[in-house]
Amino acid sequence: MEQLGSFPGWRIDGRLEGNPALPTLAEVDVLVVGGGAAGVAAATVAAEKGKSVILIERYGFCGGAAVAGMSGTICGFYLASDSRNTPEQVVFGFAERFRGALAGRGGLTDPQIYGKTFTVTHDPLMWRETADQFLEEAGVRVLFHTAVTGIVTEGPALNGAVIESNAGRSTVLAKRIIDASGDAAVVARAGFRCAFGDAGRIQNPTMIFRLGNVDLEAFGAYWGPDTICPPKVVTAIEQANRSGIYHLPRNKIWIFPTTRPNELMVNATRLSGRDGRMLNVIDPADFTEAEIVGRRQVREYARFLADVIPGCRQSFVVDTGVEVGVRQTRSIVGKSVLRNADVVDCRKRDDGICRVAWPIELHSGDKPKLHWLLDDYYEVPYGALVPEIGENIIVAGRCLSAEHEALASARVTAQCFEYGHAAATATVLSIDEAMPFDVIRGEDVRAAMIKQGSAL
Ligand SMILES: Cc1cc2nc3c(=O)[nH]c(=O)nc-3n(C[C@H](O)[C@H](O)[C@H](O)COP(=O)(O)OP(=O)(O)OC[C@H]3O[C@@H](n4cnc5c(N)ncnc54)[C@H](O)[C@@H]3O)c2cc1C
Repeated sequence: MEQLGSFPGWRIDGRLEGNPALPTLAEVDVLVVGGGAAGVAAATVAAEKGKSVILIERYGFCGGAAVAGMSGTICGFYLASDSRNTPEQVVFGFAERFRGALAGRGGLTDPQIYGKTFTVTHDPLMWRETADQFLEEAGVRVLFHTAVTGIVTEGPALNGAVIESNAGRSTVLAKRIIDASGDAAVVARAGFRCAFGDAGRIQNPTMIFRLGNVDLEAFGAYWGPDTICPPKVVTAIEQANRSGIYHLPRNKIWIFPTTRPNELMVNATRLSGRDGRMLNVIDPADFTEAEIVGRRQVREYARFLADVIPGCRQSFVVDTGVEVGVRQTRSIVGKSVLRNADVVDCRKRDDGICRVAWPIELHSGDKPKLHWLLDDYYEVPYGALVPEIGENIIVAGRCLSAEHEALASARVTAQCFEYGHAAATATVLSIDEAMPFDVIRGEDVRAAMIKQGSAL
């Protein structure tokens, strides 16, 4: 794995040795950084186990890439198969609790075909409300509109974080920190090693959008039941590009009917710089370019759909994600690394804390690469959540320690819920038994998770 390259300025304010000028806003058992799928699961589970928990989220709602990035569907629940035509669920635990609660609100579709497997499309507003309810009922203290900008350390131990909001800067002190930022925001600020894609190449971002006023009957009759586009759409995109009338950089696209009438969720754009270069979205200049290029591409794909795809003639763009969808930034270098071979070989392990049956879904080049795992799954080792050095810190979510292609499978939402579940379970063990994260056995985390409803 490649070590994180240099990002000028990324260490500014990275380390604050208990700056006495900063007031302490809270002292808790557990600080969770980020309220995506992993953070919501981690904070809820830790609080339900009696720990005092604060969750810090920079936006005004939870959901992260699934909601702010509007990734749109919860992938990762079901096996893939060449022969099975009904979904077989293999992931449960907190992921299933959230799925059930969201479905109960009417915020989730039935399983939809996605190539050789299935997925479920969610309503991003109801996703937020479902998260609010879990966190409130568990007694988590949530601070929205607040960012973690630095860390508080004592030797190798992390004791808290510096937070910043419109009210100013302060610290939160905690016995344990769960970095569920997606970007390894805490681990990177601590100066611990991170990896960055495949020798610095990361998957491309995508701006997802919703299309309203679609004649779903006409659309469905043409498109068919698979949310991955049929070959005739690939051909139509290629022809459209050849005509010079459209510029559509990705020719294999995915479209999901949503929970709302006459509406589609469109995963089509492929964002690179105006000069064609890979965008490094850790850098705000590149992130900004991704947003602008993304908005233009959304209009271009919407125009193509209206002009060419039956049922879409009268359609309009309802909205895009709050931010461009970011698939990959930093991954931690952990005690264990999820290897590409572990994924391809469907490796099971005694210290496995989550099943993954999702394909390697790699977004780079003209069309996404899909490598299916048929009728089987692999397991992610506990050690992939534990940074190789540092005390009191564990990660949850897509910044886990994984090789590039392995991450392209392991990063989806159902699994991120379960990584949060695992991180919280380990955190509770770590506090109760006064044991460092790297001494805790994955086997024990696994056993506790099974008792809490996970299938492993
Ligand atoms: C375009 C795209 C399409 C995708 N499609 C699918 C799909 O169809 N189905 C699927 O299951 N998965 C999909 N994924 C993947 C999936 O959405 C994510 O991998 C998953 O949601 C990540 O969850 P997470 O909790 O690890 O991180 P995130 O969801 O990224 O959550 C991290 C949270 O931390 C917050 N945060 C970050 N830094 C700080 C800080 N310093 N201070 C405070 N808060 C901070 C962020 O605001 C965010 O809310 C897609 C992803 C993208 C980008």
